[in-house]
Amino acid sequence: MAVKEMYAIASQWNMPVPDAELAPIEIEFRDVGKAFPTKGQADAPFAIRHVNFQIRRGEVVSIIGPSGCGKSTILNMGSGLYRPTEGQVSVGGEAVTGPVPKVAFMLQKDLLMPWRSIRRNVELGLEIQGMPASQRKGIAENLLARCHLQGFADHYPFQLSGGMRQRAALARTLAIDPQVLFLDEPFSALDAQTKMILQQDLARMLYEEKKTALFITHDLVEAIALSDRLLVMSARPGTIIEEIVIDLPHRDNPLERRKLPEIGPLAGRLMDLLHVGADHELH
Ligand code: ADP
Ligand code: MG
Repeated sequence: MAVKEMYAIASQWNMPVPDAELAPIEIEFRDVGKAFPTKGQADAPFAIRHVNFQIRRGEVVSIIGPSGCGKSTILNMGSGLYRPTEGQVSVGGEAVTGPVPKVAFMLQKDLLMPWRSIRRNVELGLEIQGMPASQRKGIAENLLARCHLQGFADHYPFQLSGGMRQRAALARTLAIDPQVLFLDEPFSALDAQTKMILQQDLARMLYEEKKTALFITHDLVEAIALSDRLLVMSARPGTIIEEIVIDLPHRDNPLERRKLPEIGPLAGRLMDLLHVGADHELH
């Protein structure tokens, strides 16, 4: 039985839903704070503080918040690049103490290696894992086809457009078959149409393969189009001020979800929460 139906029945009878019936918690932040002390500065101010959230396996959750509120810092802690100053971060039920296998990170910059062909860029993670060449070639070609880059495997990054390079970066991210994806504004450098096409590919793959994703964007409609839930952050020291469940269909089809009449009012509510348009400094 689907979790949603179970919830509906349980709430009708006023019954608690046993936790075991839900998907396991994949990402958890418990009272997490992070300060960046510089030399000789013992009491550095916190960039984020008292950050608490849980993400279940298969969920796509977006973080939105003003520039500099600590969104990237959260992703860097989730993927083991930064250690928290206080609190606990866990992924897959284990405390994060360094890079976590089965976790992939995708950034705004495609970070493709210019001297490697697109296929060999996609194969990079598998090569590091020691997978034989023939096997990784098969995986890379399959992913390139799914990311609409068939015919470009032997091209080099400089021969591709920005959108195609970001597609190749997505294929590389998915090549290691991660269970958890951390995505830090992966589409923000792309034009509006390219962005929507890439969102479509990403959303479908996340949905079909039941991946867990924590996504950062400053595009409010993008966040609504792609997510099950949004975490809204305050300005520095950043903390989560609101959690919004996106109870809309088409999580696997953001182009369709964008057309729903609920999108406008939801985006408006987010703008109010973030004080967009209010008379405050731009960073
Ligand atoms: P966002 O992604 O929301 O724009 P960041 O997480 O990048 O914000 O940054 C939050 C705050 O933490 C900023 O004030 C930033 O200067 C600071 N910060 C982030 N990373 C570092 C770092 N490695 N060293 C020092 N300060 C940092
Ligand atoms: Mg950032």
